[in-house]
Amino acid sequence: MAKRDGAKRRKSFFFRFLVTLIILGFVAFLFCADKGLTPVEAAQYLLGQVDLPELPDMPRLPELPHLSQIEELDIFGTPKPEASPSPAPTASPAPGVYTGEILQKSGMHAYILDVGQGSCAFLRSPGGYTMLVDTGESSSAPVVEAFLQAQGVERLDVVVASHPHSDHIGSMAKIIQNYEIGAFYMPDEPYTTALYEAMISALEKEHVQTIAAYGGKDATIPWDPLVSVNLLSPIKGVKYKELNNVSVTLRIAYDDTSILLPGDAEAFAEETMLAKLPRSAFPSSVLVLGHHGSADSTTDAFLQAVDPSLAIVSAGAGNDFGHPSGETLEKLSRRGIPLYRTDENGTIHLLLNGKKVQVETER
Ligand SMILES: [Zn+2]
Repeated sequence: MAKRDGAKRRKSFFFRFLVTLIILGFVAFLFCADKGLTPVEAAQYLLGQVDLPELPDMPRLPELPHLSQIEELDIFGTPKPEASPSPAPTASPAPGVYTGEILQKSGMHAYILDVGQGSCAFLRSPGGYTMLVDTGESSSAPVVEAFLQAQGVERLDVVVASHPHSDHIGSMAKIIQNYEIGAFYMPDEPYTTALYEAMISALEKEHVQTIAAYGGKDATIPWDPLVSVNLLSPIKGVKYKELNNVSVTLRIAYDDTSILLPGDAEAFAEETMLAKLPRSAFPSSVLVLGHHGSADSTTDAFLQAVDPSLAIVSAGAGNDFGHPSGETLEKLSRRGIPLYRTDENGTIHLLLNGKKVQVETER
């Protein structure tokens, strides 16, 4: 019996020793994981030989005094398109307002401005480069300029005029006069309105580098090496009868998060893109609905190819066009895609951090 008890004690001692060892190992693992250290570094740290690396302060969202409501959506699971090569900048744009490593961690900001019945989007890249896509009507100039001023913007590295309709380029001449512009993209589609002519004269007067935008498999806009800006439309050689359909369509991707801006592209342009470009050109976390959510745009096939986790519509409250259309809203709700709209939510701010999208609305 005594012999057997001794064996039992040894067994139980060994068992406790093993459990203690496992717990200590687990605690050491958690410590290493928490501090981001290898076991050797952790041992050196405990022996006082190395200091822990300093973590940078977390970046804060820019101050938005008028934005009261913050909503957050975790948008995981957006299908990742085949890796598209980062655009090789042909000319390296001068840094915008922000620079530095910390901002690279903060992600890409996109603001869909509330300009009433019209479109205007401002984007700031992880590296601090700026982009303006459209300006809304000429009456929106004070809204756009006040926004840019509040953002501390003096230079726009890229400006895109999606197409020559007044609700997109109305304030463009003013912006060209008042801001330094790196490169200006627009469709090669002359128009005859006074607003269009004012835009062209301002570009000439300010000697702005102006580039005819054409979509294609490898068509990109150099902006920030961390971000892919793909040009999807209009495609060279295609006869677009409607001016809406020549809209410059952009897919802007930062890592796994992306936003698609189709201007006023309608079904014909959507079908043409789908026919001419690989499927990997389309999937996007966020889709800004084409043509203010009109029933002429956002075909089932296009919506399926883009497969957004979130949709946005830029439209004026009680507009005469019935934008966004009930048909389009129905398509979104059938697919369970949440919608934010400038007529109800005001300016919409998206932070695309490479893994998920956060949404903040003015109201
Ligand atoms: Zn429009």
